[in-house]
Amino acid sequence: MAREFDIPLFYRSEIISTIKKARKESDRYRKDLSPSSVNLGNIEIRIARHFGFCFGVENAIEIAYRALDENPDKRIFLLSEMIHNPHVNEDLISRGIRFLMRTDGTSLIPFSELKPEDIVIVPAFGTTVEMFKDLESRGIETRTYNTTCPFVEKVWNRSEQLGQKGYTIVIHGRAKHEETRATFSHARSSAPSIVIQDMAEARELADFISEKRSPEEFFDHFQGRYSPGFEPARDLQRIGVVNQTTMLATETHEISEFLKSVMADHFGASEPGERFADTRDTLCYATSENQQALYALLESDGDVAIIVGGYNSSNTSHLVELCERQLPTFYVKDEGEIRSLQEIQHLDSHSGKVKLSHDWFPARRRDGKEGPIRVLISAGASCPDALVDRVVSHLAGLLGKKDHLQDALEPFRKLLSESA
Ligand code: SF4
Repeated sequence: MAREFDIPLFYRSEIISTIKKARKESDRYRKDLSPSSVNLGNIEIRIARHFGFCFGVENAIEIAYRALDENPDKRIFLLSEMIHNPHVNEDLISRGIRFLMRTDGTSLIPFSELKPEDIVIVPAFGTTVEMFKDLESRGIETRTYNTTCPFVEKVWNRSEQLGQKGYTIVIHGRAKHEETRATFSHARSSAPSIVIQDMAEARELADFISEKRSPEEFFDHFQGRYSPGFEPARDLQRIGVVNQTTMLATETHEISEFLKSVMADHFGASEPGERFADTRDTLCYATSENQQALYALLESDGDVAIIVGGYNSSNTSHLVELCERQLPTFYVKDEGEIRSLQEIQHLDSHSGKVKLSHDWFPARRRDGKEGPIRVLISAGASCPDALVDRVVSHLAGLLGKKDHLQDALEPFRKLLSESA
């Protein structure tokens, strides 16, 4: 995980890079989850300890830009968005990369137009077994520029192992997300598989495990989300759970524990692993770290939260979900959405719609105490630090504090020189 990737400099940043570097140097084992405080006088910006480009995203970006450098005369395609950040995808498009599909799998360019000499980049989410086969049948080499994150491949490997041990694979994920579509495809080639989205669906599945509901209802309810030939009575006798790498850790654990108890209740006490595979979750390190850092950020308390990331980013949406439980939270894709201290455009994750909110910036602290207004900031694993920089400086500008930013970074520079 310590590898440094060769990604374009414009994705790096001054403010966030200084803070991250200082924190990294003074806490090499990444154990201290307390947020970083940028003190602007009557405003304090508290930035989560961990967020932004993860291993898989930096790896994907390095490979995509290398594909551009190494193939100036070839047509380069991406199967779909490489990662869920519009700014990264737009930059790749501006350099000539074309997308073959939308994120939901609908076609943008027919595959019949592909030629064997074309370069096709597989995104960080990976792709389905069928897609790999289709590309290979067209003579396209898929290995050189395959950016599938190793943590996603780890889920595929876990699925295969579960399948070999005779378990049906229950995938906790968003059925329409590229990663879950890919995992479902890889899992079903090893064993009967089914996708469930949340705890409510785990409860639905429990009714079928304990045969309270008919198989017909099963097929109706989980349409498109079970593998061909699935037979509830036969295939729900031994199960193992894997997760989309970016789910909410608490929900994933709750679902696993719940299904384990359902299996024990229905089939009676059994040897560990006999009915329910005893495995750890398959969330990736970035999801775990970012969610843990967010809990620490929320614990530090705040008056308003801004979460930065692409609107279709699963891991970002979970950060928003956690924040919303505690304080007013705004999910923005970039600084342009913070129009003023009175007006902010953001994604309402409940309705899935972009909306405009007024008088969003708090006039006083929620705890009623004297002191600076505390603005909490974090971002998704596909969000460039440069974008968070722009959000921080834009906000400082709106607050009339832009000149204070350099002074506010001084403690981090000091920390850096002390640890040098
Ligand atoms: S969020 Fe996790 S699984 Fe996804 S690209 Fe990053 S490290 Fe890989």
